[in-house]
Amino acid sequence: MGEQHIDNGVLTCIGLGANLGDAGAVLRAAQDALAALPMSSLVAVSPLYRSAPIDATGPDYLNAVALLRTTLDACVLLRELQRIEFDHGRERSIRNAPRTLDLDLLLYGAESIATPQLTVPHPRMHERAFVLRPLLDVLPAASIPGLGAAAGFLPRVANQRITRMTP
Ligand code: ATP
Ligand code: CA
Ligand code: CA
Repeated sequence: MGEQHIDNGVLTCIGLGANLGDAGAVLRAAQDALAALPMSSLVAVSPLYRSAPIDATGPDYLNAVALLRTTLDACVLLRELQRIEFDHGRERSIRNAPRTLDLDLLLYGAESIATPQLTVPHPRMHERAFVLRPLLDVLPAASIPGLGAAAGFLPRVANQRITRMTP
């Protein structure tokens, strides 16, 4: 997959979420945009999951996790993710409008990053079934720097009901 193939670079995990409009179409467009990123290769995309919003009302979320191998710096990758959010998801005319697309940088290789704009690993990823389930589909051995095996956190999110949409 991907428009170009790179053999080096860092394996990164990106969380995708959408809950407004045609969320399935938004996530497909987001996958295409990830595949088109420079200096990057889309390695895998998980099945889609449907989850109820936590602490909120509103439509269900659709979530997935993508594996992207890239030689982009983490902060450059974050800016690219924000551009894709804007291009494919955000309402353009209204300030603070609801987002139709959320792209989170979950893991950047085994690195820990703490800048004002970027915290990696994503600080809440291990508390979220809609992150852990698709992440473990594409990377069963996923390890969260500072926390250990992602699979070890699954039992703690067992009360969060989510449904896998596709095989
Ligand atoms: P959550 O982070 O709990 O999933 P959210 O995705 O709704 O919440 P946003 O409003 O999308 O939060 O992001 C707020 C800010 O988080 C962004 O402007 C970005 O600079 C910062 N941020 C820090 N670490 C990350 C990361 N790992 N991935 C994406 N954004 C991050
Ligand atoms: Ca998020
Ligand atoms: Ca986000």
